[in-house]
Amino acid sequence: MAHPKEILAKLNANARKSLSQNFLTSPHWAEILTNAVTEGETPKAIWEIGPGLGALTQLLVKKATVPVTLFEYDRKLSAFLREEYPETPLIEGDVLKAPLEALAKKANRIAVLSNLPYHLSSPIFFKLVDIKPFLTRVVLTFQKEFAQRLLAKVGQESYGGLSIVAQLHFKITSLGTLPSGAFYPAPSIASEAVILEPLNPTDLDVPKICKLIKAGFLHPRKKMVSNLKQAFPNVDWEQALASQSLSTNARAEELSEAQWILLSQAL
Ligand code: SAM
Repeated sequence: MAHPKEILAKLNANARKSLSQNFLTSPHWAEILTNAVTEGETPKAIWEIGPGLGALTQLLVKKATVPVTLFEYDRKLSAFLREEYPETPLIEGDVLKAPLEALAKKANRIAVLSNLPYHLSSPIFFKLVDIKPFLTRVVLTFQKEFAQRLLAKVGQESYGGLSIVAQLHFKITSLGTLPSGAFYPAPSIASEAVILEPLNPTDLDVPKICKLIKAGFLHPRKKMVSNLKQAFPNVDWEQALASQSLSTNARAEELSEAQWILLSQAL
């Protein structure tokens, strides 16, 4: 594939910062990411979010044995992609406004691939949580700091509410660090690619546990117990914490996933 700089010049376009346009230039990483999304359980469809100039798309359409759909916001890039991949449906516009749930229901089993527009990491991640029942696997590249938050375990610096919620919903595996130089233009910090495999535990009320975690982490400066009392005033939190051998001085980030699960029994 030609260098993004050349393609952009032909399209009379520039990389748009407001759309987090950093285009992958590393054939090595394009192979790793497209292999990761096409292995495992065969989905009925593969979605690529933010295909850009097609660094992943060109390999994906060759490797995929099921239909691929593209979601791209940028009008010029969408026109380019339609010309390059006339057989591949493209939904133009903001992926966050696309009817993802209806589309997911229709396709039923979907794998998702994206070198994410970084400013939308969190909202896209939570959109994927919403359609988790229809997902087989998701391969995403995030800013390294965000990926570290998803992967962190209790006691690690990046650990927080997002880590626990993400790990309740998905088995998360790192594929490694992509240096800034793997993209044009080079972003200011490195990226990290992860595989998300949906977890569907039948013995846990995941939405209830997530509600508790959200409340516990709401005001980081306040004591966790005050946050919990404010959100759930009818629960005797002193008693609930004591029954898990937890102090009322405990901070939200000191509790492991297992402790949050146990504490949710108080609700
Ligand atoms: N996949 C390409 C690659 O790896 O070279 C491009 C990745 S670039 C980091 C992010 C892409 O997401 C850009 O093509 C950008 O135009 C697109 N994008 C940004 N905001 C979007 C949105 N709200 N909906 C869909 N695509 C979006």
